[in-house]
Amino acid sequence: NEVVSKNFIEQIIDKDIEEGHCKKVITRFPPEPNGYLHIGHAKSILLNYGLATEYNGQFNMRFDDTNPTKEKEEFVESIKKDVEWLGAKWHGDVLFASGYFQQMYEAAVKLIKKGKAFVCDLSAEEIRQYRGTLTEPGKNSPYRDRSVEENLALFEDMKNGKFEDGTKVLRAKIDMASPNINMRDPVIYRVAHMTHHRTGDTWCIYPMYDFAHPIEDAIEGVSHSICTLEFEDHRPLYDWVVRELEYENPPKQIEFAKLYLENVVTGKRYIKKLVEDGVVDGWDDPRLVSIAALRRRGFTPESIRMFTKLVGVTKSQGAVEYPMLEYCIREDLKPKAKRMMAILDPVKVIVDNYPEGQVEYMEVPNNQENPEMGTRKVPFTKELFIEREDFMEEPPKKYFRLFPGNEVRFMNAYLLTCVDYTKDADGKITEIHCTYDPETKGGNVEGRKVKGTIHWVSATEGKKAEVRLYENIIDEEKGVYNEEDGSMNINPNSLTIIKDAIVEPELINSVAEDKFQFVRNGYFCVDNKDSKEGVPVFNRIVSLKSSFKL
Ligand code: ATP
Ligand code: MG
Ligand code: MG
Repeated sequence: NEVVSKNFIEQIIDKDIEEGHCKKVITRFPPEPNGYLHIGHAKSILLNYGLATEYNGQFNMRFDDTNPTKEKEEFVESIKKDVEWLGAKWHGDVLFASGYFQQMYEAAVKLIKKGKAFVCDLSAEEIRQYRGTLTEPGKNSPYRDRSVEENLALFEDMKNGKFEDGTKVLRAKIDMASPNINMRDPVIYRVAHMTHHRTGDTWCIYPMYDFAHPIEDAIEGVSHSICTLEFEDHRPLYDWVVRELEYENPPKQIEFAKLYLENVVTGKRYIKKLVEDGVVDGWDDPRLVSIAALRRRGFTPESIRMFTKLVGVTKSQGAVEYPMLEYCIREDLKPKAKRMMAILDPVKVIVDNYPEGQVEYMEVPNNQENPEMGTRKVPFTKELFIEREDFMEEPPKKYFRLFPGNEVRFMNAYLLTCVDYTKDADGKITEIHCTYDPETKGGNVEGRKVKGTIHWVSATEGKKAEVRLYENIIDEEKGVYNEEDGSMNINPNSLTIIKDAIVEPELINSVAEDKFQFVRNGYFCVDNKDSKEGVPVFNRIVSLKSSFKL
């Protein structure tokens, strides 16, 4: 059991418990169902879920659907799927902010009755002008002193559809001279004749985020409402709302720094552009970092959990390097993934002294580091494929692989010596001829100096498969955004498709999201979109070599 110092949020919670302010830790994940979740959201999900678990509390899954313009049922489903996949288990049913519209309306009426809210006729533009600036206080709205009765009647009319969009709003009556602009009589309700994805046309007034969110939290008994740093100066308004509405155990807002990955596109607007321009094949393209894309690429929930743990929780903003995420998936798959042989750039080897038509099954450990994974039988035949780069006509010094006259170990099979080769008109190697030593089965090399070991697949028993290799979609030398016009610096080589890689026969039966190590080539995952039964497509998750050190 390692000793880990608690993060600043745990310290706050500990103190709240100690001082008797918190009987049960209740957290929530409150996405707006207006897009797909990405790696940043994963951090928020795992943080909130992790805290609830750690303190024996409760984790709520709540859709913050108070803005009908962009919200869609499709996103509700994809978000639920992603949260489940990450392993975060929410309490009871999923919740919807729109389920509290009636209570929010009543809360607004309560504020009006307390003289803490008023209906304002200023236009959006006028409200902006009256608001003042960081250095100048704002001006009171001419409608600020309407009577409680008048405000109640007008708000009722707003609710009943008597006004056009944008003609009237309800504002909190706080302080137009506050140094915090969020406190200058913020709008808390607006008129919007829109159909909501859940409540339909029941409402034509909708609460603003800063008013709705604390109410949602308070209704659910959330103890700690964790959000990202940009909401720090909204906290006084959050506190004002729960105080004026006189909730008994008001929730406490805590902010932490968003997760950013260096040289990685996370902005919705930019991803949308990549999709629309056909640079990627959708929100789940394996080069993106939406949760769906990470799943499709082959990242596991465990690797993402490890990653968010490593990143930690802080209040200071900073970007994390992508290789750290790669490190986590390697660590996770190292003991779990079968190590199989696949040839990405095949060249044929013919074993001259091996019997024609013979198939010999070699016993191969599935994972040398994890004997519990057992062994499998891999067919060896007269004709084999190896990687083109594993043969050289004229090798440089320290090249220990196949070249004329050299003997190398064919992994888990025999020692083979290169005796000849053929080339085509362009000088491309077409066939390599070898002889094998029957006494060396299984790689027994007693007393022999054999420095090279290469992998291979039977040419007659192996299967063809499509393999996809990826690089960052961003040109890392230039950075994500072009400084001149704000466009993205796209790497034109981010996807390499290999149509005719040769894989061990067993791999042909793998199914979507199966993961393997391909010896020397990296970790691979069966694509969950383009694979068909018996025709898997393999995505490279990550190569074997790491540039990241813990
Ligand atoms: P985006 O615009 O990237 O989708 P968002 O803030 O609009 O982000 P929401 O659906 O409002 O997304 O977010 C749900 C929760 O996820 C919020 O609590 C938010 O603070 C958190 N979150 C969003 N992005 C990140 C991030 N990069 N790192 C950590 N938490 C994040
Ligand atoms: Mg969002
Ligand atoms: Mg948001």
